[in-house]
Amino acid sequence: MTHPEPTLTASLTLIRSGPAGPEVFLGKRRRDRSFLPGFHAFFAGKVEGVDFQGTDRFDASRRAALRECFEESQAAFGDDALDRLQFYGWWATAGWMHPFLTAFFGLHLTAKEAKRFDSLQDTLDPEEFESGRWIAADDALNHWELSPPGPPFLMTRPLVTILRRLAGDAGTSSDLLFGADEEAAPFSEHLEPCGGVALVPLKTPTLPPATHTNALILGQEELLIVDPGAWDAPSLRPLVDILRDRVASGHEVQGLFLTHHHRDHVGGIAELSRGFNAPLFAHPETLARLDDLPQDSRAITDGESISLDLPCPVEALHTPGHAPGHLALHLDSCGIIAAGDLVASGSTIMIDPDEGSMARYLQSLRRLKALDPAVLIPAHGGLITDPLDHLQAVIDHRLHREALVFDALKNAGSATADDLIPAVYSDVPRAVWPLARQSLISHLLHLVEQDRATYDGAVYRWVPSPNTLR
Ligand SMILES: [Zn+2]
Repeated sequence: MTHPEPTLTASLTLIRSGPAGPEVFLGKRRRDRSFLPGFHAFFAGKVEGVDFQGTDRFDASRRAALRECFEESQAAFGDDALDRLQFYGWWATAGWMHPFLTAFFGLHLTAKEAKRFDSLQDTLDPEEFESGRWIAADDALNHWELSPPGPPFLMTRPLVTILRRLAGDAGTSSDLLFGADEEAAPFSEHLEPCGGVALVPLKTPTLPPATHTNALILGQEELLIVDPGAWDAPSLRPLVDILRDRVASGHEVQGLFLTHHHRDHVGGIAELSRGFNAPLFAHPETLARLDDLPQDSRAITDGESISLDLPCPVEALHTPGHAPGHLALHLDSCGIIAAGDLVASGSTIMIDPDEGSMARYLQSLRRLKALDPAVLIPAHGGLITDPLDHLQAVIDHRLHREALVFDALKNAGSATADDLIPAVYSDVPRAVWPLARQSLISHLLHLVEQDRATYDGAVYRWVPSPNTLR
């Protein structure tokens, strides 16, 4: 698959002087937005035809930055604002994210403007933002570092870079922060949504529509690497490069951690354990399913903690269903769960009857929900920032499908899995039926466990419920 042409976008940071240094206006993106839901953000949007006015892309980006700011907040500026914009540089996104090429600008408000836009949160576009506020650059950075209790304060790396500059030199410098031109735009190979939690999407042999597995780097300087999948050495490269940089600046890889044994999660284990001399942590059921384990492989089970330099304990949760040894990692007081393959944003989790279990999967989802996390980090796709709704939707979806299986079996009286596919998966393209068949069998076995069906090794039979007999 070739990469689509990146979408040209522009971002504007509004800056005013506060008693404790520069302040910026930060909105919080609605959690139902598809791009970076629940993240804190500056004003930003697509560069449109109307922005061009016979000029080049850079000039159009400047116009777009001011126009987006107006559309998202009603803040309008005089004609001189175009010339007052400070250019921070270009930044690009990649991996599983939609490719954006963004020009970042800052605008220091005059005292008069600062007064006029003091209550900017009142005129924010409710379609984009759920809230917004003026905040000292220092405070925003402190929130971004995990500070339990309380939900994580999510921001992207360019924002953090801009805030660090503002907090460091009172925002007077005119030096570039990112790429001077579009070709020199740094490539975002990873996300660090909050301090001490980084995602590095690596290309892996995973199931479509997913193409990448998120390797995680947890910890400030004592690092735990979660699920370093990757096809081959070149696909592992982005993670290795980041780790080498961090080790060079004194950080240490404390261990590797597997949520489960599937091939799109384990590809980099051998190279990383050798290269960084780090032990492997995984559930015994996972260790038992892997060949060529590193010498230092340690079993970890439900409730055990891994000690890192994060402000919250990191606890393993045995969450089987997708795989027998599946572990999630709970950063308890920080409200974060690294959820592995329990959920995915943008695709459905496979429950293979050979090693999975629908009953245990549903149990694991309910357990996650009861922990009331603020953020789920799935192994595939972006952060899930509405976890309770998301988990309930997944549970409902599975139960709905199971009801269809039960009804189809009731109509047939007795049937094989293949007989039932057309009735149960009529809404799914035929190309997906071989995979759907596996889920269907998992549902049938779940019905058997609940005495709602029987299986004699060849056909499944519908069992009337006690109510029906009466
Ligand atoms: Zn998996």
